[in-house]
Parts: sequence; C-alpha cells; structure tokens
Amino acid sequence: MNDVTDFARLSAIVNSSDDAIISKDFDGIIKTWNNAATTIFGFSAREAVGNHVYIIVPPEFEEEEKSYIQEIKNGSHVKSYETVRKRKDGSTFPASVTVSPIRSAETQVIGISIIARDITEQKRSEENNARLASIIESSDDAIISKNLNGIITSWNTGAEKIFGFSAEETCGKNISIIIPTVKLEEEAGIIAKIAEGEKVDHIETIRKTKDGREINLSVTVSPVKDNNGKIIGASKIARDITQKVEIKKLQQLSDYKDDFLMMASHELRTPVTVIKAALQILYEMVKDGEVDIRMVEKSLSNVDKLSTLIHELLDVTKIQSGKLDLDITTFNLTRLLQEIVADIQLTTSQQQVILKQPGKLLEIRADRERIKQVLMNMLSNAVKYSPGTDEVTVETAVKENGVIVKVKDYGIGIPAEDIDKIFERFYRSGGTASTFSGAGVGLYISSEIIRHHGGRMWVESKKQDQGSEFYIEIPHKFAG
Ligand code: ADP
Repeated sequence: MNDVTDFARLSAIVNSSDDAIISKDFDGIIKTWNNAATTIFGFSAREAVGNHVYIIVPPEFEEEEKSYIQEIKNGSHVKSYETVRKRKDGSTFPASVTVSPIRSAETQVIGISIIARDITEQKRSEENNARLASIIESSDDAIISKNLNGIITSWNTGAEKIFGFSAEETCGKNISIIIPTVKLEEEAGIIAKIAEGEKVDHIETIRKTKDGREINLSVTVSPVKDNNGKIIGASKIARDITQKVEIKKLQQLSDYKDDFLMMASHELRTPVTVIKAALQILYEMVKDGEVDIRMVEKSLSNVDKLSTLIHELLDVTKIQSGKLDLDITTFNLTRLLQEIVADIQLTTSQQQVILKQPGKLLEIRADRERIKQVLMNMLSNAVKYSPGTDEVTVETAVKENGVIVKVKDYGIGIPAEDIDKIFERFYRSGGTASTFSGAGVGLYISSEIIRHHGGRMWVESKKQDQGSEFYIEIPHKFAG
C-alpha cells in the first residue's frame, strides 16, 4: 500500500458520504469541501474553499461557533452538537455537527474537520412523534397496539381508564386478558383479517375489565406495518359505549311503554264500550219487563275478551321480570290437542278444525297449562286470520330433537318482511291491526313459553294470502 492509493481511498470515502465533510484552519477558512457539502449547502467546492466558514453559519450562531473552535484549540477532542446552519440561498436548517481536531504527523493540531448533517426530517418526525404521543396519551379512547401473536405492545391512559389495568400490567401480556371467553373466536377472526392487511372498522363488541365487568365497546382495528410495508401487528382503538347501549335499552323500554299504553287504551276501550252499551239496553229491557238473552251473551263475551287481555298483560310482565315459572308434569299431548280442537271448533262455524292422525298418543313432559295456552293462541290465530276459508289443520310429528306441532291455515298469510317481527311484543303485521282485534302479544308470550321449555317456535308463510304454518318444537326431555 502506498500513500497515493490511501489518499485515493480516503477521498473516495469522503466524496461518497451523505454527510457534509469540511475542513478549515484556525482562522475559520474552509480548506476542503466534499460533494455532500455542495448538496446540503448549495455552494460548490470552488465557491466555498478559501472562504470563511461563516458563509454557512447564521450570524446569531457565530459566537457559538467561535467557542467550539476555542475548545478544540484548547485540546478538546471531538464535539457533537445540534445547531442551525445556513444555505447559499440564505435559508437555514437544523443541523447535527461534529467537530474534531486535525493533527499533523507530529500530532500537532493544524485544523478542524466538520461533519454536518441536515436533520430537518429527523426533527420533523421527532415533533410528529411527540405530537402523536400526546394525542394518544390525552385520548379518552383506549389505544392499544399488539403484535400478530396478540401480545400487547402499548397501552395508553385511555385504556387504563376503560379497562382498569395499568400499562405495566398489560404490556407483554396476551390481549386475551381483556377478552371474554365467548369473544375469543371473534378476536382470532380479527387477527386473521389484520394479517391479510384489512382494517376492521367500528365493530360493536364486549370486553372484560380488570374487575371482571363486561363492557360494550366500539372497536376499530388497523394493521401496523414496518418500514418495508410488512404487517407486524395491529393498533386498536376502543370506545366505551356501555352508556350508549344502556340509553338504547331505556329508549326501547320507553318505546314499549308507549306501544303498551296505546294498545291498552285501544284494546281495553272497545270491550268496555260494548259491555256498557249492552248493559244499558239490558237496563231499559229489564225496566220494561222484556229481557233479551243476546245482550247478556254479548256482555259476557266482551268480559271474556277483557279478562284474556288482562291475563296476557300479566304474562308479559311476568316474562319481563323473569318470573314465568313452569309447572312440569307428564301428560298426553294428543289428548290435550283433541280438547283444544273441540274448544276452538265451538268458536267457528266456518272452518273445520282438523287434527290429523289423532290415533297417535304422544306423552310429553312440560307445563300443561302453558302449552295449552300456546296451542290455543296458534289455533285461534289460525281461525282469526283465515276468514272465508274452510279448513285449519293440526299435525304432530316426532323428530330427533323433540315433538313438533304444526298448525296450518289457508288465510291471509304473513308478508316476508314481518316474519321475524310478529314474535315481538305488541307487533301486529301490516293491515291486520285495523281489521282484526288483538293486542299483538299472544305470539310473544307463546314463543317465550316455548323458549322456557328449551324449545323453539317459528312460522313459515310462503306469500301473503297463501296461509301460514306455525310450528312449535318441544324437546323430548325437559332440561330446565
Ligand atoms: P294478535 O293476534 O293479538 O294481533 P299475536 O301475537 O297472536 O297477536 O300475533 C301477532 C301478529 O302476527 C298478528 O297481529 C298478525 O299480524 C300475525 N299473525 C299471527 N298469526 C297469524 C296467522 N295465522 N296468519 C296471519 N297472520 C298471523
């Protein structure tokens, strides 16, 4: 190796550097100037060399510059500092500068080398990070990040407030500490989506706090990528919406209450008006000595309507307060159906109420009175909602899960959009409310009774005007 190749190598290193590498003498005169210095400051080597270094130092930093040179002169080795430098066009920028002494072969200090870097970008991203960090910290939302194995990597103050765990308690732990068991599968689905680079937006879900409470949250999860665009984890923003959900429930209750009052005032008024009118006529007749039995019958049948309605309302209250108790016995379902069909037949001269395969005797374990109530409701609806038709049929079947009873009519049917709603409290389908009397709670009560038996109730209706098929399924063994 000789001096020439050494020199060539060094100058190649200096010229390929991204940092400005400059040397100057003790009077501050620039001696060398590399390519990066030209890029950063805008002066060519020819313009810079021989000039005072103050061409790149803003006037208010000249004193600082002088004092660093003095320190080097006094024997200090290397000095790094952040300062401000000036470009040829007069603009300034934040710079990181390292100054060090240049020594001669005799180890005498003969000049100073300066390595300068433009740190505008670095400053900007530091400021951005600081700003982001303060936004994250001051947020009321929980902002959490985790890696693809579900390990929590950050946990803000909002998360501490919502979940009750501190950052120290959670970072490094699996996210499952805040996920109720029933939601673990949902979380796995979210992680799978994130791994595919998809975002999961505003799902409403349930999470668990440190003291075991379950809370309603609205959650948005987005993938976090490294500098190469590879997905390395997920960030999660969660907002506590427990209050919102509570308000929605209260609103629903208040809506029900309004529906109830409307229905009650309407449905209770009609029979009371009829009874009152009949009694008035009766009164006149008794006065005149001529009694008409039909007036008494009318009063009685309307008193029955009132009493049914009051029973239904009591049942709704029982269901809602969780007090619908069942009295389970073993009884013969076929016999019960025979009884009910005979009772219902008395209410209509139009339709034939037919029990198919009555020979089959089916024993079940259930609450006889409650099952009777359900079947009466199904059959009286079938008769009520099929005026002008001539048949209503009842059929039973024994299936793997339980005993099925199907009540079929050929009446007005149910529009597709109402199929799910007719089992709700006070819901009455489309035009039925104005044509047929009823409170709209029969099916709600019936489906709740069946649900309490561990069974299910559903309806099939192909089209409006093509009749309906109502089904109940009572499990073979009553589990409750
Ligand atoms: P109600 O008969 O007092 O209105 P229900 O809860 O028993 O209350 O029924 C709710 C609604 O379901 C009825 O208003 C009616 O619109 C619809 N529905 C029930 N049974 C039938 C049926 N067999 N055919 C057509 N519609 C029916």
